[in-house]
Amino acid sequence: MTHNIAVIGGDGIGPEVITEAIKVVRAAGVEISTTDYDLGGARYMRDGEVLSEETLDELRTFDCILLGAVGSPDVPPGVIERGLLLKMRFDMNLYVNVRPFIGTAPGATEPHDFVVIRENTEGPYVGEGGSLREGTPHEVATQGSFNTRMGVERCIRYAFELAMTRERKHLTLVHKTNVLQFSGSLWERTFNEVAEEYPQVETAYNHVDAATIYFVQDPQRYDVIVTDNLFGDILTDLGGAVSGGIGLASSANLNPDRTGPSMFEPVHGSAPDIVGTGKADPRAAILSAAMMLDFLGESEAADRVRAACVDPVTGSTSDVGDSIAVRVRN
Ligand code: ATP
Repeated sequence: MTHNIAVIGGDGIGPEVITEAIKVVRAAGVEISTTDYDLGGARYMRDGEVLSEETLDELRTFDCILLGAVGSPDVPPGVIERGLLLKMRFDMNLYVNVRPFIGTAPGATEPHDFVVIRENTEGPYVGEGGSLREGTPHEVATQGSFNTRMGVERCIRYAFELAMTRERKHLTLVHKTNVLQFSGSLWERTFNEVAEEYPQVETAYNHVDAATIYFVQDPQRYDVIVTDNLFGDILTDLGGAVSGGIGLASSANLNPDRTGPSMFEPVHGSAPDIVGTGKADPRAAILSAAMMLDFLGESEAADRVRAACVDPVTGSTSDVGDSIAVRVRN
């Protein structure tokens, strides 16, 4: 069966790492048909397009979307993030962001293996708020955090289902219930109610500030973590930093109901400082492609790709892709 994949290489090192990811997927023997979409900061600078409704409708027809990185120092902050990345997440209902972390934290003797489930369509990212008297000493700015019972529950439910598939069956809710009393209460009550349906899953709660300490000092305590959009964004960069670096951090933006495509992308950005140097590590993109293979039902190929990324590889971006492709084939 051929899987139809929309490819958004994007900006900076995005196209470089995505080329290697596609190379490795093909080496794994999975049949894919790819269609390139020229989107991102460079496209915006050229003709002003960020993501039209027409392109969005086309993207909806694919099985999956594979994205490199979008963003450019030439584009004002927020234009691409809101107009492209968040628009795809919101409009395609990619309500779960999955970020796995396997590694040994600096100074740790034991490896860790945990997954962060980040709510991907609500929280402070919905763009609720505004400003008044901008640029004056009396300026006011508000930025609301939007949390619905439905949105919180479907994300928490996904996290419990994931925990059930794992050996430890342990799930930690991360929030800041001691200060964010309204959203925190909704998250905590929903978590506790859903937990009653999963008596096999052991649960825990951490405040987000405590979680940052545990990420560095004791990440082995975690199995699955569920958290809101903003906390998840920040925590997962830290997760990458304690798990071998940003060049290894992969992610999936899932529509678990499968009413449309899901999107897979490395956590890192466009890294304009190393574009064209061959220094970009393509493994985060390759591991994101492995997550895509899992979602497409190609788990055997996905396992082979992940296994091929474990041993160190040296060389340029394309050398690393070539070496991993050879391992995957064998
Ligand atoms: P953006 O605005 O697109 O997020 P950025 O430069 O702010 O770009 P990243 O692209 O995540 O953020 O880069 C942060 C740092 O990590 C940079 O020094 C970059 O060179 C490095 N980096 C990011 N991705 C990789 C990678 N795949 N391999 C090696 N280094 C990387």
